[in-house]
Amino acid sequence: MEEITEIKNITADPYAYCRKYKDETGKKIVGYTCSYTPEELIYAAGALPFRIFGTNQDIRLADANLQSYCCSLVRGILEEALSNRLDFIDGVIFPHTCDSIQRLSDIWRINVKQKFHIDFVLPVKLNTASARQYLFDILEKLKNDLERALSVQITDATLADAVKTYNQIRALMKKLYALRVQRPAIISGRDFHSIIKAAMMMDRKIFLKTIEKIVTQIETSDRKVISGDKRLVLAGSVCSHPEIYDIIEQAGGIVVGDDLCTGSRYFEGVMDENVSPMEAIARRYLNRPVCPAKHNGLTNRGENIIRIVRESKADGVVFLLLKFCDPHAFDYPDIKAMLDKENIPCMLLDMEEQLPAEAQLQTRFETFIQIL
Ligand code: SF4
Ligand code: SF4
Repeated sequence: MEEITEIKNITADPYAYCRKYKDETGKKIVGYTCSYTPEELIYAAGALPFRIFGTNQDIRLADANLQSYCCSLVRGILEEALSNRLDFIDGVIFPHTCDSIQRLSDIWRINVKQKFHIDFVLPVKLNTASARQYLFDILEKLKNDLERALSVQITDATLADAVKTYNQIRALMKKLYALRVQRPAIISGRDFHSIIKAAMMMDRKIFLKTIEKIVTQIETSDRKVISGDKRLVLAGSVCSHPEIYDIIEQAGGIVVGDDLCTGSRYFEGVMDENVSPMEAIARRYLNRPVCPAKHNGLTNRGENIIRIVRESKADGVVFLLLKFCDPHAFDYPDIKAMLDKENIPCMLLDMEEQLPAEAQLQTRFETFIQIL
């Protein structure tokens, strides 16, 4: 499919895409590090929201500033910045989420030269009345900060357009997830992963048109795809390795759902287009499935993963745990206990942004898949 090839080319070298985009459109590019960043505001300010990922190259410069017991995602993001590979970014937004991202913000502020740097201090506990009011207030503050940093005015009209555009993108991504549940092999895991990454990097209007075409082609395709592979759900923080999907498929599995920041957590949540755009954005953050850096009830995460397993008719769950990621590591035992109670097999894969040898990973997956 031509559109998927285009998306794969962009995600293979997103920095080249951004540099070209900037030259051609003159637009500003705003980097962000976590899916708790309200991209809609960046979009409404006329800039391109760009999700910064870690690196698969050696981490050297970042280790002079961050302890080696920080997760490799955060160390990799800093490495990319200190190596000047992110020089096309005009400014960054750091949401207040896990400790590592908060401290990354402090170190970045001192060591990386960029035009602006905004901290977005979200509430941790989302299910209280004060959190709600506070979230509305700090979204307003973020809007003002962005207006000042980018010398623009974010109007109600541009915000409403942002809410509508993101709703359309998220609805199509949900449709793609549903199609994959029905016919998992209709799109490879690698291609699916590229689409998700592209959603965080490409010009969103162009991405919307591209994803529309992809979904229509898949919906109307009469290609018979029968997969006897074991159906898996991935859970964790960020998975930026397309190779993981290839290795799972070679081992006799297929991913049919996920609870990842590079996955459903990024797309979940429709914004109400009948209330003010700021309120719609705030409500989505209060109701969206949480990651362990946020709190919305004690069993919320486990229940969400069980729901995804049931709805996608999955055989098991693979937890992708980045080494030294405390929030996910602390959450795992409780979630595993909930899955055990439901007789849902799960496997824990301790990994870094730099993957271990493929053969080693394949053996781990094969062993798990054989017991399903
Ligand atoms: S797991 Fe949570 S804190 Fe970590 S990147 Fe994802 S949303 Fe942000
Ligand atoms: S939530 Fe975990 S993986 Fe994500 S940035 Fe924080 S420590 Fe790293």
